[in-house]
Amino acid sequence: MLCCGSNVVALTTSSKESIAVFGSTGSIGTSTLDVLERNHERYEVAALTANTDVDTLFEQCLKYQPWFAAMGVPSAAAELARRLDQANSVTQVLEGPDALTQIAVNPEIAIVMAAIVGFAGLPPTLAAAQSGKRILLANKESMVVAGELLTRAAKQGGASIVPVDSEHNAIFQCLPESNRCSPDVGQQGGVSSLVLTASGGPFRQLSLEQMQSVSVDEALNHPNWSMGPKISVDSATMMNKGLEVIEASYLFNIDESLIEVVVHPESFIHSMVRYIDGSVLAQLGQADMRTPIAHALAWPDRIEAGVEPIDFIRLGSMHFEAPDHVRFPCLALAREALRMGDGAPGVLNAANEIAVQEFLDGRIRFIDIAKVNSHVLQQFEAAAPESVDDLFSMDQSAREFALDYIEHQAPKPVA
Ligand code: NAD
Ligand code: MG
Repeated sequence: MLCCGSNVVALTTSSKESIAVFGSTGSIGTSTLDVLERNHERYEVAALTANTDVDTLFEQCLKYQPWFAAMGVPSAAAELARRLDQANSVTQVLEGPDALTQIAVNPEIAIVMAAIVGFAGLPPTLAAAQSGKRILLANKESMVVAGELLTRAAKQGGASIVPVDSEHNAIFQCLPESNRCSPDVGQQGGVSSLVLTASGGPFRQLSLEQMQSVSVDEALNHPNWSMGPKISVDSATMMNKGLEVIEASYLFNIDESLIEVVVHPESFIHSMVRYIDGSVLAQLGQADMRTPIAHALAWPDRIEAGVEPIDFIRLGSMHFEAPDHVRFPCLALAREALRMGDGAPGVLNAANEIAVQEFLDGRIRFIDIAKVNSHVLQQFEAAAPESVDDLFSMDQSAREFALDYIEHQAPKPVA
């Protein structure tokens, strides 16, 4: 059945916690469904959403029987509705531009997994914050672009944001219990700094010259993590770590200068918190997102995630090194954007989303991603966004600015 969001009434009689999984067909989305299945006595899948992947969402709807499904692209939603009708499914397919936000504000849904990639994840995440949901935040871009707005909306709406990004989830676990849930950590509770770990990505040991000719497949081939294409490329440029510095700054209300980054190629320590007495608390785990997903879902409880325990004897040793800002300029760009404030993190994010897509589509080289990001951050004049509408128009203009630069100034890859 294809319905407009506002006409829909969903009913649950169960005592299970109901969850909407935004971006259910992606890497985080499928890992979330795996954890939910392992804990089906506790959780009920209330809604699933995707952008264009009808086949996967159709299969997920048959398997998990959510109350609602929604798709970003209208023709995909229509096709999904047709197939579900034919299969006599109970799932209602919501349509229209605000189908995602309709799900996010549905009073019968308690938990929202925000796992859409990019700026597109902002509207439903913001709506979930305003309507007091428990938000499991994977979609880091929404925190990067709208950090203050989102944390303020969560406070006002009575929502809680539990980070799913492995580093932020690790920090959340290592922060003092008394104030880990409020975004007011700063220097309170004896915390002196946050330490984000970074794998260094697939090109950690390449020279700048070697990086000139890396392929899309090489960029997507992360040594430790299996992830969606956008975040895989972000990991290769280390923009992912830059976005995570911004995300941490807003999420934990802490100055950029108190967020360290250390490269840890084994990816067993997911991040750390330093305390003023010299203690450092770390959270360790396999490079498997089911651990932070399960933690965020059940916190303060613990549930099974299906993840193998770490074998320390086999692991043997762990290594640490400083990030190289010459080969990976995106990390410093993110810090600069935070210091610039106002709309700068959103501008950088918009430029990066464009640059990554252009790289994936073969229109620019890997090393041009940082050039596009740097150019747009330095040259695009962003007024301080005062509303969500301001954020949307700034995002749109920064994207056009980036595309214009790529069209007219960025060197093209040689075939
Ligand atoms: P992915 O590309 O595998 O999946 C993205 C999901 O979002 C898909 O379900 C897709 O259908 C949906 N989507 C894409 N564009 C959309 C749009 N315009 N409207 C509606 N839905 C849309 O991505 P992923 O790797 O699962 O990452 C999701 C988010 O989680 C990203 O913000 C990423 O940075 C973050 N994250 C991912 C990982 C990881 O291990 N994959 C780790 C930490 C954080
Ligand atoms: Mg991460």
